[in-house]
Amino acid sequence: MHFTSQTALLALASAASAFDLSKANDLDGTVWPATSPAGSRLGARWNRPIKRQEGWNPPSSLVTPLQQVWDHCVNTYTDGLFGFKNYGWDQIMATQGKINVCVRWESDTPVSEAQRAQISTVVNQQYQRWFEWLYGFDNFPFQEVSTSVVGWAVKDASLLQGSTAGIDVYTDRDGEGAPQCAESCGRFFHQDGDYSGCPGGAERHYDNSLWLTDGMQGGAGGDWGQRIGAEYFIQSLGAENIHILLHEMGHSFGLDDFYDWTPAGITNFIMLAGSSTEVTEFDGWMLRNWWYELSRQRGWQS
Ligand SMILES: [Zn+2]
Repeated sequence: MHFTSQTALLALASAASAFDLSKANDLDGTVWPATSPAGSRLGARWNRPIKRQEGWNPPSSLVTPLQQVWDHCVNTYTDGLFGFKNYGWDQIMATQGKINVCVRWESDTPVSEAQRAQISTVVNQQYQRWFEWLYGFDNFPFQEVSTSVVGWAVKDASLLQGSTAGIDVYTDRDGEGAPQCAESCGRFFHQDGDYSGCPGGAERHYDNSLWLTDGMQGGAGGDWGQRIGAEYFIQSLGAENIHILLHEMGHSFGLDDFYDWTPAGITNFIMLAGSSTEVTEFDGWMLRNWWYELSRQRGWQS
């Protein structure tokens, strides 16, 4: 697992368990495809699980590279990988398959009510690019992992135009002055699930943050959520695949970067930054590999 000293992490430095799975390279805008996300072709449909599958049965051509990736994670992540207890996996198991998201709006640009509704929809759509690999696979317990934006953190509440019914509005700041939803309501800060200090209680807690920062190139991702450029995200809202976000979401579920090596025979996948604008079959199987291994180690198979 990789610690970085990037800005994305500074705000989290006070929390001892801050893991940022994304390497510093994620923040380099030049590593990402120049392709406009809005111009991305429709995602090709690989072998999504049409019927239920149990056990470990990847296509033969992927067996070796998947094993290489898994071994690399086990050998390089802190605490042998399994010791960390706040992966996206731990979060969705705690919530029975629901992800509450806080949007951290680090921008002075006003946001309309319609934009906020669209953002909530798009965040869920992008998560589904990953989760569709899990439905029906190897006793994954949820037919749907639904996400919803429950809170917005802004510099000034007046930036949120129109009705804010249904969302909690925060003007809290982190240690670096960036807007954040109340720590009392955040999973990252309360991994024991005790949200008694959250004004709205557990029902209004958030599991991770989508941190949108003006002028940011590239991204960062970890158990705390994802951080990408605000302009990039807004311009990409109509895209089939918001590839930097997809990559960072992969980090939230434990997937690694590949700036320093690549698995045998695999050259294009979303976690190899800049090589793909969509979640590929190999990405999907890496995600499944995590479920296969972690669910058995954590006792989630039954
Ligand atoms: Zn990355």
